[in-house]
Amino acid sequence: MSEQRRTALKQLQKLDLRIEAARERVRAFDPKFEEVELPALELESEAEKTRARLQEMKLEERRLTLSVEEKRARQERLDERLGSVRNLREEAAVSAELEMVKRALQADEQELLAIADHIRRAEERLAELTEAAEEARAQVEPALAGLRAEREEARDDLEALQAEREAFVATMDESEIRLYDGIRRGGRTVAVAEMTEDGACGHCFGIIPLQAQNEIRHGTALIRCEACGVILTAPEPEDAAAEPAEGGGQAVGGAGEEPAHAEGGEEPAEEPEADAGGEAEPDAASTG
Ligand SMILES: [Zn+2]
Repeated sequence: MSEQRRTALKQLQKLDLRIEAARERVRAFDPKFEEVELPALELESEAEKTRARLQEMKLEERRLTLSVEEKRARQERLDERLGSVRNLREEAAVSAELEMVKRALQADEQELLAIADHIRRAEERLAELTEAAEEARAQVEPALAGLRAEREEARDDLEALQAEREAFVATMDESEIRLYDGIRRGGRTVAVAEMTEDGACGHCFGIIPLQAQNEIRHGTALIRCEACGVILTAPEPEDAAAEPAEGGGQAVGGAGEEPAHAEGGEEPAEEPEADAGGEAEPDAASTG
């Protein structure tokens, strides 16, 4: 049973590595989208800036148009007054004001012409940019659609793996899952490692104390590496199978979990073979 649990932990770790790789594949699409879309994005951004500038210039044009209208009306009123002045002094004053209004009107009119010209050019530029942006957008769209489909596939893969993990974890021992997840939450990808044949941690290669080595081999308890903290599992099952004595020892190990046994070096007294031999004798005698 403990042997099975250790296999499950190793399988879970393999699954988690696949999940991490699948997640990375999904993430890798972000820069690809940017790269493919860039030509269209740049043109769209420039068109947007031109549109904003055009908007400002049109407001300025409106302001100047109103100013010109107002000055023309003033000029008209002054022209009328000039026809009905009563003396030379009044005529001089009205003429001076008229001259001033005319000069200001001229300046406004010139500015209005200039801004109308700027507006015309900006409108042409905007039309060009809009067309180019639409063209670029149409050009990148198929590649974007392809990327979207690929990313969708990668997301499906990831979801399938996550569902697989969920189902798998449901069959596992809860305390082991908690320990395993706790180790991984620290940002580590390796939470389980095999002990090497010569008794070192398969992750950091730190030497494992003999007592812990035995517990790992027998699967009696969940042992973590004192140096790096990973959960340690027994070496490849072939090794365990190669030593038949190990199999018998494991059965006894279940009963020997009491601390009394761990402390006492009374192993010879507990040898089951002595008892078995004693029982076998009378049987043999009765038959013979
Ligand atoms: Zn270690």
